[in-house]
Amino acid sequence: MRALLSLVLAAAVFTPPVRAQGADPHPTVTVGTATAKRGERVYGTLTIPSATDSGTTIQLAIVNGAKPGPVVAFISGSHGTEYTSVVAMTRLIARIDPAKLRGTAIVVPLLNVASFERMVPHVNPVDGKGMNASYPGDASGTQTQRVLAAVAREIVAQSDVVVDLHGGDLDEDLRPYSYWIRTGKAARDSASRALALAFGLDMIIVNDVDVTSAAGTRTLSGYALSQGKTTFVAEAGHSGLVTPAETAMLVNGSLGVLGALKMIDHPSKPAAKISWVGADQRVRADGGGMFYATAARGSVVKKGQKVGYVTDYVGRPAGDVLAPQDGVVSFIRGVPSLWKGATMVTILRQFPGGPAAWQKPER
Ligand SMILES: [Zn+2]
Repeated sequence: MRALLSLVLAAAVFTPPVRAQGADPHPTVTVGTATAKRGERVYGTLTIPSATDSGTTIQLAIVNGAKPGPVVAFISGSHGTEYTSVVAMTRLIARIDPAKLRGTAIVVPLLNVASFERMVPHVNPVDGKGMNASYPGDASGTQTQRVLAAVAREIVAQSDVVVDLHGGDLDEDLRPYSYWIRTGKAARDSASRALALAFGLDMIIVNDVDVTSAAGTRTLSGYALSQGKTTFVAEAGHSGLVTPAETAMLVNGSLGVLGALKMIDHPSKPAAKISWVGADQRVRADGGGMFYATAARGSVVKKGQKVGYVTDYVGRPAGDVLAPQDGVVSFIRGVPSLWKGATMVTILRQFPGGPAAWQKPER
């Protein structure tokens, strides 16, 4: 008995002092119907009631770690047919152990449910709006606007870091990449650079934004930056396929982000050689037709090089598609369907000496 008592006393001596009440800013975290206490993984929904158009129900998980730390939101499926990102985030939820987590992960794998269910790429088919192009949303607007207003209010507002995942849409034959989105503010830009390196993809697109402009804050990342959050964007997947390798890139990369934020014990594994790229130029179709790629995603091309061609609907050539600049094919159209304005190819300029200093974008 005595021995046991002395052990208990020793434990009491070495126990760190109890934190003052209120020192943990997130003893519980609530999003929609989900409320997670420390050490809990809880599932719930963010329900958007019908209004001028139909409502929608978005499923999510909150992993509230046993110990305090940052709040990180992982959001994917704003493009509901970018399946790799959606599937990867469903798997990420089970990979985060609340008992070992310091801080909180809010995971929303599928934001654009109608796009997924109806297999409509790029937009929300309910209102035809882009779900990564309409922030800060509008609580009295159409479905997309109401969803984004709820994401802003319920998720972004309480997060320190916002991670936006994409997966190469149905028509995009895409090479995996991350974005380093720069604001011109040194501390914030170095924080997001650290996340891009920790994510581990070997191609990083340098994208300069002006978070004081409306154009710079329509996307989730731009909006989150305008609210003072650290953000990170990555994309892996192509042409609607869910491959184990690309799914693993997004799951492991997300764990790398949590590791870099010291929320889990996870060794940071930056790619051995990083290709820094940026200044994208897209070639868009000036009308309908059938597109055929001749250059592969990820290939390096010269300005003027043929990367694809177009025919009419009876197979007669309608023109070649040429690279608008030297660079890397980040994605090329993976299906024949074309319409006026459809992106046929995107070429990113290479920065072999690393990226130049931030420049205020013109648009
Ligand atoms: Zn996307």
